[in-house]
Amino acid sequence: MLGLIAGSFLATLVLRSPRGETIVAGRSACEHCGKRLDVTELVPVASWLWLRGRCRGCGGRIDPLHPIVEGLCALVGAAALAVAPGVAGVAGAFFGWVLVALAALDLRHFWLPDRLILILLLIAVASWWMDIAPSAFDRFLGAAGGYAALTIVAAAYRLVRKRDGLGAGDAKLFGALGAILGWQALPLVLVGACSVGLFFVAARVIGGQEVVATDRLPLGALLAFAAFPAWIIQQ
Ligand SMILES: [Zn+2]
Repeated sequence: MLGLIAGSFLATLVLRSPRGETIVAGRSACEHCGKRLDVTELVPVASWLWLRGRCRGCGGRIDPLHPIVEGLCALVGAAALAVAPGVAGVAGAFFGWVLVALAALDLRHFWLPDRLILILLLIAVASWWMDIAPSAFDRFLGAAGGYAALTIVAAAYRLVRKRDGLGAGDAKLFGALGAILGWQALPLVLVGACSVGLFFVAARVIGGQEVVATDRLPLGALLAFAAFPAWIIQQ
């Protein structure tokens, strides 16, 4: 239930923050006609299904990002508490919810906001403070190692290809994942993320689409998708 509510909040954040709009001020309204949503239209997932993804006022399309993010956050919350009942599960749920928001922003805008990555670091610090595994040493090594690893890859790519291949946000995110999961989990997360990425590229080639070296993949989103299963395995 908390996941649905968190998802509802995060979907609004994902849709509004790239436009420079505030999340806290202003009630939810239709983005086409500005109609304020009443209580029955604010129920996560159910409202969207009930209204068949259309605004009741103007019939305009309601972004399916809303129910997708809400559904994912509900699944993340349920999965986290199922594998780790208690404080560790709550920390895991917050971790997963931030990952959902990061993945959605990276998929839509190739944008990994520093503020969200900072929240991941705060979750890592809070978890360490509450004695949740991994140890402080493993977390520190994960943060430093994760950030350094992708920064070195980015620098090497720039040197060889004379253009940017990795966003700065990717290295920061990988470091934050290391702070939460510990350094031991990072190879698995990276291999998982790259496998999913290569799978999509392969599917594009098989589908007859042209693939060139300058095509962009949202590495941050791929890392986020790989990181939550890695956290589940750890429990
Ligand atoms: Zn409307």
